[in-house]
Amino acid sequence: MKYISTRDTSIGFSSAQAMKQGLSKEGGLFVPETVVPFEKDEISALSGRPYRDAAFAVLKKYLTDFTDEELWDCIDSAYSEKRWAASEITPLVPLSDSAYILELFHGPTCAFKDVALQILPKFLTYSIKKTGEDKTVVILVATSGDTGKAALEGFADVEGTRIAVFYPDDGVSDMQKLQMVTQSGANVNVGAVIGNFDDAQNGVKKIFTDKEFAKRIAARGFMLSSANSINWGRLLPQIVYYVYAYARLLAMGRVKAGEKINICVPTGNFGNILASYYAMKMGVPVNRLICASNENNVLTDFIKTGVYDKNRTFYTTISPSMDILISSNLERLLFDLSDGDEKLVTSYMKSLSEKGRYEVTDEIKSRISKLFESGFTDDDGTKETIRRVFEEKGYLCDTHTGVAVTVYNDYVKRTGDTTPTVIASTASPYKFAKSVLEALKADIAGKDDFELLNMLNEKSGVPVPDALGLLKTKPVRFSEKIKKEDMEAFVDDYLK
Ligand SMILES: *Cc1c(COP(=O)(O)O)cnc(C)c1O
Repeated sequence: MKYISTRDTSIGFSSAQAMKQGLSKEGGLFVPETVVPFEKDEISALSGRPYRDAAFAVLKKYLTDFTDEELWDCIDSAYSEKRWAASEITPLVPLSDSAYILELFHGPTCAFKDVALQILPKFLTYSIKKTGEDKTVVILVATSGDTGKAALEGFADVEGTRIAVFYPDDGVSDMQKLQMVTQSGANVNVGAVIGNFDDAQNGVKKIFTDKEFAKRIAARGFMLSSANSINWGRLLPQIVYYVYAYARLLAMGRVKAGEKINICVPTGNFGNILASYYAMKMGVPVNRLICASNENNVLTDFIKTGVYDKNRTFYTTISPSMDILISSNLERLLFDLSDGDEKLVTSYMKSLSEKGRYEVTDEIKSRISKLFESGFTDDDGTKETIRRVFEEKGYLCDTHTGVAVTVYNDYVKRTGDTTPTVIASTASPYKFAKSVLEALKADIAGKDDFELLNMLNEKSGVPVPDALGLLKTKPVRFSEKIKKEDMEAFVDDYLK
């Protein structure tokens, strides 16, 4: 399998090259030259099989430069029962006769990014070897919360790698901060940047583009890399859980082979929902893909009108991981829907960066409207849903999942569609305990983060995930505060 760029189809990289480099030189995203369909009965054969078998079936089609043995090594270490609080990895929980919650949050950091970030480090270490690189890879991350911790957990003590994560000192929740500063592992480092997320992100970008710095650390045997969500190695593992969910529905007798389902995804950077699109192209029978947004509803408008316009107010919401106005992975969808038209995609992305806006062709619009549905809700709507789902179904969902359930309910009201629907649940309710408790109308005045966890536990009966409950007992390892102009020196020091 060769990998090409959405802005340059002449590139013919191996998967190892594409994952090592992350982003193509001219700014495009790597995509496989073709989407490989499942063979007849291949999905049915996964019914009743463990998650790892679905993972192998998907990965093998795209990482053709990996041996079976290498793939199994990646899969077994990423999805071992030691690292996941659910033996199914991503359990599928019925909410009604037609709605199923796909719980993606049972990994070590309680958010869905674990599914990809547990296996990406394994892909990268093999990719480095396969491309003849002998340096230690240094992953740099600027984080507004969830990604940094998931990357730390993924890379901790992975041979041949080091990781440094920068978070804005006044820009993450206390719980998120605690998750990062207590991180274990001999190869990890964490710094609090004095400033906001943009300061941290700009600082990391500067380090990445400093050629002198790259030379200096190369002489010491290091090279920089990123675990960014546009890396193909992060998208690919996300296809797996949609295939697995379909196989589970078959095993549960809820669908017959070939029967179509809907998939509803709470969306930010468009990675998770794009993975469901690839799963469909590979052969998972899909009726509708439902894109759910919070008040930052740039994608809702795009799917309805074909106009992407980021010139609008940015809202800070109770589903912060979806507070995004530029959904980078949409570029891969546009590439596919334009039948691989690199010139067209390049022009859209140029227009996006210059004017903050582009409009797709009628052909692409029509393809989008045949498959995608979209909707959004505000914080009040999300909270109302969390409370109602809990009171009526006894199921507790987090704020991001609450957005998806709201948009799904609106869709059903509008269309009367009773197609079985998989709703992606992207975080544990405990990760956003304060907002969830507010939704349940609890009195949370004066409570600290750990008291909130216990309160939510008393109210819901859902056990507190160890990954959050035990943080209290962990020693703080990283307390350094860094000026934004000293970030490079911090990394330099770390690599001495
Ligand atoms: C990252 C994230 C999302 C958004 O996923 P995308 O792939 O960026 O669309 C949704 N919910 C949670 C909890 C997340 O961490």
